[in-house]
Amino acid sequence: MTQETGGFAAFNLNPNILAAVAATGYEEPSAIQQQSIPIIMAGQDMIGQAQTGTGKTAAFALPILHRIDPAKREPQALILAPTRELALQVATAFETYAKQMPGVTVVAVYGGAPMGPQLKAIRNGAQIVVATPGRLCDHLRRDEKVLATVNHLVLDEADEMLKLGFMDDLEVIFKALPATRQTVLFSATLPQSIRAIAERHLRDPQHVKIQTKTQTVTAIEQAHLLVHADQKTSAVLSLLEVEDFDALIMFVRTKQATLDLASALEAKGYKAAALNGDIAQNQRERVIDSLKDGRLDIVVATDVAARGLDVPRITHVFNVDMPYDPESYVHRIGRTGRAGREGRALLLVTPRERRMLQVIERVTGQKVAEVRLPDSQAVLDARIKKLTNSLAPLVADAEASHGDLLDRLTADIGCTPRALAAALLRKATNGQALTLAAIEKERPLVPNSAPRGDRADRPSGDRPDRGDRERRAPMPLAEGRARCRTALGARDGIAAKNLLGAILNEGGLAREAIGRIQVRDSFSLVELPEDGLERLLAKLKDTRVAGKQLKLRRYRED
Ligand code: AMP
Repeated sequence: MTQETGGFAAFNLNPNILAAVAATGYEEPSAIQQQSIPIIMAGQDMIGQAQTGTGKTAAFALPILHRIDPAKREPQALILAPTRELALQVATAFETYAKQMPGVTVVAVYGGAPMGPQLKAIRNGAQIVVATPGRLCDHLRRDEKVLATVNHLVLDEADEMLKLGFMDDLEVIFKALPATRQTVLFSATLPQSIRAIAERHLRDPQHVKIQTKTQTVTAIEQAHLLVHADQKTSAVLSLLEVEDFDALIMFVRTKQATLDLASALEAKGYKAAALNGDIAQNQRERVIDSLKDGRLDIVVATDVAARGLDVPRITHVFNVDMPYDPESYVHRIGRTGRAGREGRALLLVTPRERRMLQVIERVTGQKVAEVRLPDSQAVLDARIKKLTNSLAPLVADAEASHGDLLDRLTADIGCTPRALAAALLRKATNGQALTLAAIEKERPLVPNSAPRGDRADRPSGDRPDRGDRERRAPMPLAEGRARCRTALGARDGIAAKNLLGAILNEGGLAREAIGRIQVRDSFSLVELPEDGLERLLAKLKDTRVAGKQLKLRRYRED
């Protein structure tokens, strides 16, 4: 067990919980887990200052599961979360960690779904109830005793709950719970309103905060990319197309993720390997040696496995999964930029993790610029550049050595040298897409089917956890931009540069004013300045591209 669960074994958690943690592939507790788990296990009240991405869910879920009695079929722990998305996420986390605890059930209670089945699940003895405050109050109105047996309460993202106007609902819920319960409060920030709640409703709380010392980062160019979790692999593949790297290390959180990503990279022809805590020492050394001498170019690692890894060839670090804290971010990106070389660090950020990005920026005192996924044109240019670079050195003496053979083959086949060269190119490039249309076809719909469902993206209304608040929101646009759509796409012979040219010329805009342009088969999306948009669209009213009317309109995803 100790071997498998690493640092988690030291907590003396119920072995069934440890086994489930081992199965998720976590290698060691994050800082917030390290500090919170013993406190919550001991039954104490606690205030944890931590945001999404720090591992805070497991920090309370594991010790709460440890404290409940699976034999008792009644609600024992209540977790309050500001939104349906978060409630579902937390409920899923509990289910994962309780997989090997027979008899433990979890119910998620949120608005927008029928109340009957939720109440039934609670009455049927779900020990863990994860709820949004508004809907839970609706249940309390029907049955005020429904929470009478709860002896552990967790307020997750308490500051968000207050921002969403749940204060009164929280007071109703506090009253419906036994006064002797344990209360744990997690919040990214601790404004006065949160401290007041803690004062009134927590008893002698322990404070847990992840210390963040200012860190310096030099010689490393940093950037971040907003992406939805399930699109990380395709985002990584797109980035690799255009990044000029020598060797690269990618950081992920779990052993499984090292294996999955490394095999996705290998499948695309990259020389990649996984490095995680399960890999034996001698194999680990082999991987590092291969990275040093160029037999490998990419290593996908967990933080634990990358400890002490020092390879001067590394030009890039991709933080595919967010590090738990800024120190670990600085540590990770310090793998590049060694020996006075320039390094580049890219961080993938899911919408919910944007706050963590801000913390990193604050602690490092540096802005981590946003980059976009390369568009098809950029991918094409990069592929052609690579091809040019690989062929150019071969041209010099090829005619002397193979010129006569070329003459003979063209004569035998009865074709022009151009036709033969084209055939050889096709063979040499092995089916790789080398036209814009072919690249468009092979690329998944990355940015625009992207991040949805982050509560931070949603404007907050005043009726929390019902209706609009629970509807999913689109990938955020850069500030001041609007997304517009035209029915012209690749099948009309349109490329991004045509759209760009037309809008620049006819709209009289500066290049920087235009954001992402995505050309799909039957339509295209363009990001334009919100300010003056109506005027701009009117100006572009009669614009034609590739002989067809552009008819650009504001695009609303929902
Ligand atoms: P949270 O901050 O709770 O939203 O967690 C962020 C992500 O980190 C989730 O995807 C968890 O599955 C993952 N995670 C939490 N704890 C660990 C750990 N100790 N090791 C690896 N991944 C973890």
